[in-house]
Amino acid sequence: MIRLEDVSKRYRMGDVEVVALDHINLDIGKGEFVVVLGPSGSGKTTLLNIIGALDVPTDGHVGINGNGLSLSKQANRFKFRRETVSFIFQTFNLFPSLTALENVQLVLDMAATPHAQDRALQVLTDVGLGDRVNHFPHELSGGEQQRVAIARALATGNPVLLADEPTGELDFKTGIQILGLLQQQADAGKTVLVVTHNREISRVADRVIELSSGRIISDGAPRTGKADLSELQW
Ligand code: ADP
Ligand code: MG
Repeated sequence: MIRLEDVSKRYRMGDVEVVALDHINLDIGKGEFVVVLGPSGSGKTTLLNIIGALDVPTDGHVGINGNGLSLSKQANRFKFRRETVSFIFQTFNLFPSLTALENVQLVLDMAATPHAQDRALQVLTDVGLGDRVNHFPHELSGGEQQRVAIARALATGNPVLLADEPTGELDFKTGIQILGLLQQQADAGKTVLVVTHNREISRVADRVIELSSGRIISDGAPRTGKADLSELQW
């Protein structure tokens, strides 16, 4: 579904060049539940942003759907972001002056989706927030805010979910709930990519892509075995 061929990303900071991604080759299939694991600075966010067409590589090529569609073209990136990927961020990124319902409805209104409010209510109910829809973000716990962000990502029905450290701001118990929601989406057939620096979290995935200094150092099933959510501890 998404293919990276020899992708590198370099940033120039004055005289110094930072290599964020160093010759990455990667295929992500439809319906995979993938964790990208690595320490801070290893290039995880850069990789996710390139996969999600928020950013472009310095070198290399990103293709989608195996049909030769290239994300090098701005128009393709725009369409891909609108129709294919949805982002979930560590800090939730909700509009503080909009209620939970309005935050979700906004993306549907932007896409001119019919019955936007009904759909927004439905996805918020699906993530367990049916009784919180008229609350503003500051009236919600961190876990609830992240669930609003997940509802927003689900609302459009886009088939790929990209989550950058989605449990990074949350306590353990709430983090497990959020991972459970993401796992449900993978089970339902979505392609889910979760970025984390926490090896324990990576055990919920089918596939762990480990990054170090912008390179893939391993790619396969979790090293310590795939775990049930109830087995995780951090
Ligand atoms: P991670 O998400 O694993 O912490 P990042 O992808 O954010 O890693 O960053 C990888 C490397 O690229 C780091 O050395 C970081 O400082 C650098 N970097 C990321 N974004 C930028 C940027 N916009 N400008 C300059 N350097 C950047
Ligand atoms: Mg990051």
